Amino acid sequence: MSRVYNFSAGPAVLPEEVLREAQEEMMDYRGCGMSVMEMSHRSKMFDDIINEAEKDFRELVGVPDNYQVLFLQGGASLQFAQIPMNLMKNRVADYIITGNWAKKAFQEAKIYGRANKVASSEDQNFSYIPDCSDLPIDPEADYVYICENNTIYGTKYKTLPNTKGKLLVSDISSCFLSEPIDVEKYGIVYGGVQKNVGPAGMVIAVVRDDLITDDVLPGTPTMMKYKTQADARSLYNTPNCWDIYICGKVFKWLKNMGGLEVMKQRNEEKAKILYDYLDQSKLFKGTVRKEDRSLMNVPFVTGDKDLDAKFVAGAKACGMENLKGHRTVGGMRASIYNAMPKAGVEALVKFMAEFEKENA
Ligand SMILES: *Cc1c(COP(=O)(O)O)cnc(C)c1O
Repeated sequence: MSRVYNFSAGPAVLPEEVLREAQEEMMDYRGCGMSVMEMSHRSKMFDDIINEAEKDFRELVGVPDNYQVLFLQGGASLQFAQIPMNLMKNRVADYIITGNWAKKAFQEAKIYGRANKVASSEDQNFSYIPDCSDLPIDPEADYVYICENNTIYGTKYKTLPNTKGKLLVSDISSCFLSEPIDVEKYGIVYGGVQKNVGPAGMVIAVVRDDLITDDVLPGTPTMMKYKTQADARSLYNTPNCWDIYICGKVFKWLKNMGGLEVMKQRNEEKAKILYDYLDQSKLFKGTVRKEDRSLMNVPFVTGDKDLDAKFVAGAKACGMENLKGHRTVGGMRASIYNAMPKAGVEALVKFMAEFEKENA
């Protein structure tokens, strides 16, 4: 068996300990004679799995009692609709556009009401986070929406926007569990798990109790009401049992590592290795304004398409996969999520230095 260093933006690298545990339990989960993929979501066995996953998640993140933790399907993209369906009572919401995912959420919200673009960094290809200290917040706005870590462009909010008292809704898909968050600052904070937490196919939405009501937009499907899911504790219909199981193992892994404060330090240390190299390099350039750099997604370019392609191919030959950048930025992108070991980042930087010498 040989494993590569996988720099994919998502689905992405998972902790080897978690994969090994799942492998060991595959044929016979704890003496029940079947795998988790084969068991009823109504069984005692599975009930223990989902309860423990929720308990560990709450502990890890510090979720206050007046927030529900929902395990939902449909990806982060379905939240783009579920959020306005449940929250847009006045049919007005403010969106800050910092990349493709924020833009998609914004476009989806327009189906349900008036979505205002209150700030954007599109003028410089989303390479920075706009100043959000004094935005033209609509007095009627039901919420203010952000994408906190921009997976494609490699930017991250270092301070949350001043919403002038309005509810904050945040997509944290690509920085999920990478550092502590203060849940109380949000009305809803959610993420697709396939970036930094688990396998593709699930979203975890942390939703404040008062936002979970029957007062939703007319025509909202039963499945799309947060209340349906909250009342049934994410078991209204068959959930993604396998994903809940694997995420539960990742939560335990994170707790064993020391929790989110420790993960933040590790992630800062890893990112610094790469950013320090980029800052002194004459060949490679980071594409993001320094103060807005993400710890998770690091885009960089040489400025020469052929050289970029040569780099990606060369890295692949050395066991470093998925370094090609998103087409809207070009060049390279290294996603260095929780499960990427420091040795992976060191190997990447070593290869970059060799490549730079050879191609100077
Ligand atoms: C990947 C991603 C999405 C889309 O996730 P899906 O689960 O594929 O719908 C949304 N937001 C962010 C920040 C992402 O990185």
